[in-house]
Amino acid sequence: MMKSSLLSEVVHVMNPRALPKLAALTCDIEPDFGGRTGTLELLEDPTPAAGLLQWCKTQDIPLTGFVVTELLAKNLPGIRSFREQGTELHPHAHTHDTRRYRTRSAEEIGRAQETWAKVFGTPALGYRAPQGVVLPGDPEALAAHGYQFDASVFPTQRFGVFDYRSLPLTPWLWESGIWEIPFAATTKRSRLTLSTLKLYGQHFWEGKIATLPPIVVIDMHLHDIVLPASTRKLPLLPRLAYARNRANGYVLLAWLTEELKRQGYQFTTMERIAAMLREMP
Ligand SMILES: [Zn+2]
Repeated sequence: MMKSSLLSEVVHVMNPRALPKLAALTCDIEPDFGGRTGTLELLEDPTPAAGLLQWCKTQDIPLTGFVVTELLAKNLPGIRSFREQGTELHPHAHTHDTRRYRTRSAEEIGRAQETWAKVFGTPALGYRAPQGVVLPGDPEALAAHGYQFDASVFPTQRFGVFDYRSLPLTPWLWESGIWEIPFAATTKRSRLTLSTLKLYGQHFWEGKIATLPPIVVIDMHLHDIVLPASTRKLPLLPRLAYARNRANGYVLLAWLTEELKRQGYQFTTMERIAAMLREMP
């Protein structure tokens, strides 16, 4: 497991008091359950993506997507929906092969950017690693491949995957010149995503929203709002976890976004947050 020697690559941490309250809703566009079922149901069917985009429109919430770049060649209806609606997109690695990512993160960072430039004709600005795994040297690889920001770090602990509790809760600058815009975590280092909101329930999170930092990046997946038939292929524990509040994805997402707005957060995209950070003194 990765202990954070990454801390030595941090050169500047944003002072929370200097930051406005901004929130970004981000969706990871990837094979079902990050590839664990070997299926692409939620992207072969245009409905889940179209539903989410419609929901965002009615709530007036801009969405930022992080897409696994090897899927771009497949012309999947779900990905087409995001592209046709002009959703702000960035790469979410090239393959999302979590068994091998640790040994080839720099290669994935490079291949994602190459694919991006071929498909879109311009370089990608942001990057997100699978499972939130950032390794020493990755910030350097991101800079070498022309990215401007990274949106991968959960400054919390995930057993057996990472322990980034020593990393800051507010955005920081890596030595390589890349900005890190971390995921939402409370002062007690609880990870707030749509998955953990569904897992622990609204009551658990109610008092905790007030302890979030000024920049709040919420992570979600299409499987948080629609469960594919391939859910039955998952091992028992994750299957039980995803069954909790399975029909309440939109209800809980609406509760969270309303609560953030009530507490003074303005919704924006990752690119706009990155641009603001670059302009700050
Ligand atoms: Zn992912």
